[in-house]
Amino acid sequence: MRVVIVLILLCLAGCAKDLTGMEPTTDKHNLTGAKITYLGVGGWLLYWHGEGLLLAPSFSNPSIPPIFVRADKQRIADHMPEAKDVRVMLIGHAHYDHLLDVPWIMQHYAQNAIAYGNRTAGHILAVPSLNLKHRFVNVEQKMYRVACSTPECYQANPTQWTKVGHMRFMAIQSQHAPHFAGQDFLEGSYYEDLDKLPVYVRNWKEGTTLAFLIDLLDDSDRPVYRIHYQDSASNPPFGFPPLIPDGKRVDVMIMCAASTTQVTQYPDALLRYLRPRQLLIGHWEDFFGNDLNKKPRLLRAQKENEMLIRVSNAFKPIQMVMPYPLSEVALPTPEP
Ligand SMILES: [Zn+2]
Repeated sequence: MRVVIVLILLCLAGCAKDLTGMEPTTDKHNLTGAKITYLGVGGWLLYWHGEGLLLAPSFSNPSIPPIFVRADKQRIADHMPEAKDVRVMLIGHAHYDHLLDVPWIMQHYAQNAIAYGNRTAGHILAVPSLNLKHRFVNVEQKMYRVACSTPECYQANPTQWTKVGHMRFMAIQSQHAPHFAGQDFLEGSYYEDLDKLPVYVRNWKEGTTLAFLIDLLDDSDRPVYRIHYQDSASNPPFGFPPLIPDGKRVDVMIMCAASTTQVTQYPDALLRYLRPRQLLIGHWEDFFGNDLNKKPRLLRAQKENEMLIRVSNAFKPIQMVMPYPLSEVALPTPEP
């Protein structure tokens, strides 16, 4: 009941915010060259050497308060891009706004994708009627753990990478920001397979939240792009990647704008550590019952504007892009 009350309060506390003055916000389409498409919430899609990488999309976006949630197949059909060449789907955590649409998308759009995520997401996707259990890999067990006691453990262990075609990726122990007033209303994990998909919002338990380091490789397996992805804000050092001995820096950091006020030094500490060339801001829009055919607004009851202004002033050399859902962003030119 508590979650319902808080969600109602959240709804009353603030209408979606106007984006006036909140630059940069881009809305580009049909770009040529290396690019990534923002799908809204935590969803992103890119192609590299003809193979797709999908970061768990969410289109259903039930209206507030989301108490009982089901995938909206019509909304998915309206907005889900072509994805039959997607081979990898990465899932940071198992809340409904990241996992609810994944089963239907894996069955009907990304039929050649394998999903990688935490144990809880695996137990949800193992619902027998979905027939997806063989298409999920639990990467939580080999994630890089940020709690370190020896200098050696700050280095990446090569076995923590998973390589698929011209990509490789590594799960990193991260953390889920509290939703409101320091509270995470959807915490918890599953330890065995579910019989049927959850409907009650609180049964989309998050599990261990993962960040990902993603390398897009050339024909010699050298990284051309290194991308850091998070689908939830976190306190440092959660989500911080290990040292990679090849000297390649992170080109693109994909951050989560939601709940940044509920953690400390986000994304500042991570920006200072990674020094990416480009910062992509996701999960910024008010997605509760939103209409993707209209321009969305900032999340309600959040102080994202202050965070965005602070970050854009403090980290000027970094190209900061907050794209509209379903629009594209050009990746920076590869470094030699
Ligand atoms: Zn979440």
